[in-house]
Amino acid sequence: MAKVYNFSAGPAVLPEEVLREAAEEMLDYRGSGMSVMEMSHRSKAFKEIAAEAEKTLREVMNIPNHYKVLFLQGGGSQQFAMIPMNLMKNRAADYINTGQWSKKAIEEAKLFGKVNVIASSEDENYSYIPDLGNLSISQDADYVYICHNNTIYGTKYTEIPGTGDKILVADMSSDFMSEPVDVTKYGLIFAGAQKNIGPAGVVVVIIRGDLINNNVLPGTPTMLRYKVHADNHSLYNTPPTYGIYICGKVFKWIAAKGGLRAMKKINEEKAAILYDYLDSNLLFRGTAVKKDRSLMNVPFVTGSEELDAKFIREAKAAGFDNLSGHNTAGGMRASIYNAMPMEGVKALVEFMEKFEAENLK
Ligand SMILES: *Cc1c(COP(=O)(O)O)cnc(C)c1O
Repeated sequence: MAKVYNFSAGPAVLPEEVLREAAEEMLDYRGSGMSVMEMSHRSKAFKEIAAEAEKTLREVMNIPNHYKVLFLQGGGSQQFAMIPMNLMKNRAADYINTGQWSKKAIEEAKLFGKVNVIASSEDENYSYIPDLGNLSISQDADYVYICHNNTIYGTKYTEIPGTGDKILVADMSSDFMSEPVDVTKYGLIFAGAQKNIGPAGVVVVIIRGDLINNNVLPGTPTMLRYKVHADNHSLYNTPPTYGIYICGKVFKWIAAKGGLRAMKKINEEKAAILYDYLDSNLLFRGTAVKKDRSLMNVPFVTGSEELDAKFIREAKAAGFDNLSGHNTAGGMRASIYNAMPMEGVKALVEFMEKFEAENLK
């Protein structure tokens, strides 16, 4: 099969094995005579699919029993509102601003209460993670919020802020299941599926049980209450059934690869191939500071917008697709999620070497 290498930031590449298996089951899911897409979400077959997906996710991420796992809709962006509506009991929260996604979360939270931006890397175009050493956590903050991996600017937290007795909330949309995570350090983790674990339309929320209650901000709609979804095992309304089915397969694929430790090792190897080249060549350079580099999203530039455009054009023609940077960041970005094979990164670097030789003046 002639496939391109897809470096899209999201929706993004999925494991070929998963897509093949889904294709095989497309018309007749395991003798049911129908596609998973056509099944009632209340059917035995679908309930098994959802239960299996959750079970595999819990095993792979080692999620303790006192955490709930929810499969919701509305993307990462809806979590920007749902989090304050459900957790902002004192109407105050601390946020760290490390990029466009945390900025959007901050703006949304401001609709509901006082937002303290306790650290930011906006001054250097979000090319680094702020020093976490002397954060002043607000006394009245209901939680501290971070975006764990910055999809657009290519930075990630290599350690997490100490928050004392405050709950830590993390957007892990673009690095979910890319490495081991100690779930117990967080009150809530969420991730839109379309970056690293599945198709668009599903958002996974992992939330500590004691944070789920009816004490939400007045006017919080039924659909935006974690308790409603938790009480109904994510079946309060029709969930994104097909998306959950694919996510379940991706979870199994990760487990078969050896779980998150193995994933991290592979991801580090893959990212090193690209970063080593970026650090040693004479045409391209990475834009994030070394110590905070993401393993998932690698932004880079040539320094000339014209040359960037030429590179993106020629790369696409050579089968390396979706390499343009986010429209607010410019330049290039290679998203090398779990499902991007090692050969894809090696082939990209070979192509970059060729382009460098042809275009270096
Ligand atoms: C893509 C992304 C989002 C937004 O997700 P939607 O599903 O489009 O709402 C939020 N946070 C991060 C880190 C992202 O990469």
